[in-house]
Amino acid sequence: MENSSFNSSVNPTLKKLPIPPAASEVVRASKRTLYVFDFDGTLAELKDHAEDVRFDPEVKSQIQLISQKVPVLICSGRGVAGLKFFFTECPHLEFIGNHGAEWEVSGSEGLGREFKRLTPPAWSEWYARAVPPIREAAQIHGGDFEDKGGSITIHFRNSGADFWREKRAWLESLGGNYGHTVQVMSGICSWNLIPEGFSKGVTLGRYVMKYGYERVVYFGDEPTDETVFANKELPLIGVRVGEGPTSAHYRLPDVNAVHQWVAELARAVAED
Ligand SMILES: [Mg+2]
Repeated sequence: MENSSFNSSVNPTLKKLPIPPAASEVVRASKRTLYVFDFDGTLAELKDHAEDVRFDPEVKSQIQLISQKVPVLICSGRGVAGLKFFFTECPHLEFIGNHGAEWEVSGSEGLGREFKRLTPPAWSEWYARAVPPIREAAQIHGGDFEDKGGSITIHFRNSGADFWREKRAWLESLGGNYGHTVQVMSGICSWNLIPEGFSKGVTLGRYVMKYGYERVVYFGDEPTDETVFANKELPLIGVRVGEGPTSAHYRLPDVNAVHQWVAELARAVAED
């Protein structure tokens, strides 16, 4: 029987979805499963500034162990270099960064690691025109400008929210003739400026097709992860972390709950 005092304090959007299947069940069900985690807000608590984010060393050790046994991919809006800072000594771990505009994966057998930046040439043309007015606006109105090499994020969690919240159309208008080469995607108190045609969902779809996985387990916490949950081509167990409308079939309430699932996955793959 449900506890009514508990449920009354839960956001209604949290109640609608079940928690994901237990890690041990997923491990048993298929050997060709890819485990994918977004980073910020999923494996690590969000902070006001991206550079203040910390990653629990115990969870890192578990990811390290899991990635020795089964395929694990980190799929993030951060650049690959920025992600690898958190995952030192994880040689088997693979990465999709910059919302799909970069990836680092194990190449064909014997060829070692393969790094690709897929950012189109027009990105630099757009950048030269669009970035000066963005930087200027951030200086005047607040907000953090984060350049990730192949994409840009403007954070307004900490300052500048009144200015930036309604600026999608303005951001879309920047870049002159090159404006169409960039898409504006909303994040949590942020705007992401990403080369047109890339998203986590599109890139993960290509990756899964290339490597032939039977099943993909994906954990993510924000609107950009919805491009994965909405990709019906993926054989997906999609888990939305935290609140918000979602196309995912499962939900976990917070980063701690993801950590528990990861710990269970580490035990399950060690015993398998
Ligand atoms: Mg996130």
